[in-house]
Amino acid sequence: MPAPKKLTVVISQHQGRNPAKRKLEEDLAVALMMNSDVEVSIIPNLYDLSADHSGTLFLKALRGDLVVLGWLYPRAIQWILDRNGIKGRTGTVLLRGDDEDEEPDDRPDAIGALNVPDRLLYCIDLKASTDSQDFLDEIQRIVDETSQQTVDLMSWIQGDPKQEQLERYLNPKAILEADSGNNGSVADAENDEKVRRRWYPVIDYDRCTNCMECIDFCLFGVYGVDFLDRILVENQDSCKKGCPACSRVCPENAIVFPQHKTPAIAGADGEVASLKIDLSKLFGGGDALDMAVKERDIELVRDGRDAVGTSVGLRQRSACGERDELDDLIDGLDDLDL
Ligand code: SF4
Ligand code: SF4
Repeated sequence: MPAPKKLTVVISQHQGRNPAKRKLEEDLAVALMMNSDVEVSIIPNLYDLSADHSGTLFLKALRGDLVVLGWLYPRAIQWILDRNGIKGRTGTVLLRGDDEDEEPDDRPDAIGALNVPDRLLYCIDLKASTDSQDFLDEIQRIVDETSQQTVDLMSWIQGDPKQEQLERYLNPKAILEADSGNNGSVADAENDEKVRRRWYPVIDYDRCTNCMECIDFCLFGVYGVDFLDRILVENQDSCKKGCPACSRVCPENAIVFPQHKTPAIAGADGEVASLKIDLSKLFGGGDALDMAVKERDIELVRDGRDAVGTSVGLRQRSACGERDELDDLIDGLDDLDL
């Protein structure tokens, strides 16, 4: 008998135990289990998963169009997935939070993602509504617009050494039941795979121009380059918890810290109109560089190292809006029209 045609929907859980958030996750999972058009799974918080966690391996094994719901901005979800090798073209999501604007036009200088397969990824922010029906309506709209792939989730796990761990994700009902009597993460309840909270930058390659400002600025060895000399986050767990310094020096606002409290740093699209903030104070401007330098110095001193101020790793205009000799030299060369 041919496998049913279904759209795969994955719910990435909230990091904490907020009852309202957990209830929304459960309401959605229960409703989606009754929907014959979709196959639903529940995983721990996407951002916290290591590369070899069974939740990551499960996501990597999925084929066809994919909907991922999580408590993160869609841009953050998309690039966390990309970082873990779960790639696809961006599916249009109409359900968005009030604090997001439309993303501006394509950025021609951006280097883009590598090896993007012909499938659609729909990333949905669970903060966008408190009403589960809004999400169910959006998922049904996506079901109607996608040419659904044949998903035979049992076939790909045959013979996999982590088969038992992966099978867990095919049974969201058992995960929900385990959660109701457990204080830990639901997808974590029946196994020894502990998920700890993490903090690291995520690069949006649809904005990144590979300018290397971030690798010069970070003095903690977080960034590296791949075999094509493209910037990447190489040692993510070397990043300093709570610090978003390098996101402020990125001239393209391409560095996302998904758990940061400021929407523009956490990956909100567009100009974040509802907050009416001046992005130059957060990114790239003199105030932003001043903040970034201070944040970096705090972490250096915490590590027992010397603060470096503006003397290391700043190729843009110097902090506090002051011009330095390099700025004058560059302007001089521009004037000569070389
Ligand atoms: S600073 Fe921003 S644009 Fe430049 S390489 Fe880093 S992430 Fe990309
Ligand atoms: S926040 Fe600080 S430690 Fe983390 S990657 Fe950026 S500069 Fe490096």
